[in-house]
Amino acid sequence: MTARIINGRAIADAMQEEMQEETHQLVDKKKFPPGLAVILVGENPASQVYVRMKRKACEKIGIYAKQILLSGAIKEEELKDVIRQLNNDNKIHAILVQLPLPEHINARSVIETIDVRKDVDGLHSVNLGNLLLGIPKFIPCTPLGIMELFKREKIELKGKRAVVVGRSNMVGKPMAILMMHNHATVTICHTRTVDLPSVTREADIIIAAAGKAYMITGDMIKDQAVVIDVGTNRLEGKLVGDVDFKAVSQKASFITPVPGGVGPMTVTMLLANTIKAYKEQVK
Ligand code: NAP
Repeated sequence: MTARIINGRAIADAMQEEMQEETHQLVDKKKFPPGLAVILVGENPASQVYVRMKRKACEKIGIYAKQILLSGAIKEEELKDVIRQLNNDNKIHAILVQLPLPEHINARSVIETIDVRKDVDGLHSVNLGNLLLGIPKFIPCTPLGIMELFKREKIELKGKRAVVVGRSNMVGKPMAILMMHNHATVTICHTRTVDLPSVTREADIIIAAAGKAYMITGDMIKDQAVVIDVGTNRLEGKLVGDVDFKAVSQKASFITPVPGGVGPMTVTMLLANTIKAYKEQVK
């Protein structure tokens, strides 16, 4: 049997259409649009692509997107000053600092400078802490998008064994917490995990978020597992996931493709978080 392919692109498009309607109504009422500032430091080509995608999505649904391009040589304090100005700008309701930042900048310290109410990436310690406590306000966009895929595809988490491969603050950890709060039994794997295949073979649900092309192979999953591929890897000029799609889709019950799975949902949840931030700030 082959897996059902979760069409993240189509789900994201449908959600963005609903959001477009909502932003139009909000602008009619409040007379100004939600505003998102995206800060890009340096010239990382992948980051440039992500920032462009985010800006285009904003424009499509009626969010004002302010793109701030800064030199890779900028000092940490100068970057923080830019963020402080945005914190005080009432046209800007949401701030995103595109990661990774250049090595001489302490990314954690920069993120802590963002006003918690404008932290639509959900990476500020207050937002991550609230997520841990089960009282989230802003949830990181990728895990939030995956939860939306589960909801729309009616994939039950309660009682399931879930394995997350990857423990980053942006994807792996918040994903694991969200699934735990939804009553899955969760295991988190990383580079020091011994015998990863024996762990993934136990999983009803696998989230592959390691950033290693094709690392999840057909023999690493059990029959009928749900496989969510977060990975975005460039291989010979092509975008590929962390999952060997061809082999795994022969065994899984559900699978997300790369591209067209998790990626469009991440952008869509950024828009959702921006509208949420606007509604909370503009009463
Ligand atoms: P990250 O910060 O580099 O974290 C990668 C995690 O994977 C780390 O915890 C690392 O373990 C673990 N890992 C790496 N190789 C492994 C291996 N061979 N076996 C087991 N664990 C391994 O990356 P990230 O920001 O979480 O992103 C992960 C991937 O998702 C990347 O490809 C990224 O481009 C992609 N991504 C996609 C979207 C989207 O919208 N589609 C959004 C965000 C990220 P250690 O902690 O031990 O080093």
